[in-house]
Amino acid sequence: MRILLAEDDRIIADGLVRSLRKAGYAVDAVGDGAEADAAVASQQFDLLILDLGLPKLSGIEVLRRLRARKSALPVLILTAQDGVEDRVRGLDAGADDYLSKPFALPELEARVRALTRRGTGKPTRIDFGALCYDQADRLVKLDGRILELSARELGLLEILLLRAGRLVSKEHLVDHLCSWGDEVSTNAIEVYVHRLRKKLDASGIKIATVRGLGYCLEEPVAGARDGGH
Ligand code: CA
Repeated sequence: MRILLAEDDRIIADGLVRSLRKAGYAVDAVGDGAEADAAVASQQFDLLILDLGLPKLSGIEVLRRLRARKSALPVLILTAQDGVEDRVRGLDAGADDYLSKPFALPELEARVRALTRRGTGKPTRIDFGALCYDQADRLVKLDGRILELSARELGLLEILLLRAGRLVSKEHLVDHLCSWGDEVSTNAIEVYVHRLRKKLDASGIKIATVRGLGYCLEEPVAGARDGGH
């Protein structure tokens, strides 16, 4: 899941970026409305967290332009505590939800989880072979035991699970896993896939390489576990 944060207050922005990354999201941050508008017009995100009081182009204008382009990107607006009018204008302009400043981080994370789930339109729990992934808790269990994954590995597995049995291109993985300035290349994706394969080894679930194209999560073949007997 890749999030764009548009917030001109550096202290708030830094805190949000840090906590969302810790929760396993790829996060990019911009500090004004013009940059936010350019980013959502040209790149793929799964959620926009949009402060309404932005320099250069207001958050409302960013939102109006986004919806005028018929984008269904989920948008969470951040408003001032007494900004009732802003809130109403934001929701009228097509925001999906709002948070008033100041807010507690767990509250933001709960809204983000709800909106990114809504965005995929998928159930919150995915069972796949011996794997069970709870999207609400962002927790993966293998045979009922929690599988320890880094934020990147979790992000990668989530994308593969949501498209299980289908081809996922390396470019798609780079777009959805990585933030700007991460210097993450398709080579790095290969490293994450390698690590994830090792952790999934016992499950019989395979990440197949489709040469030159990308990856595909394959369900375990019956009898393939425990060394094939
Ligand atoms: Ca602001």
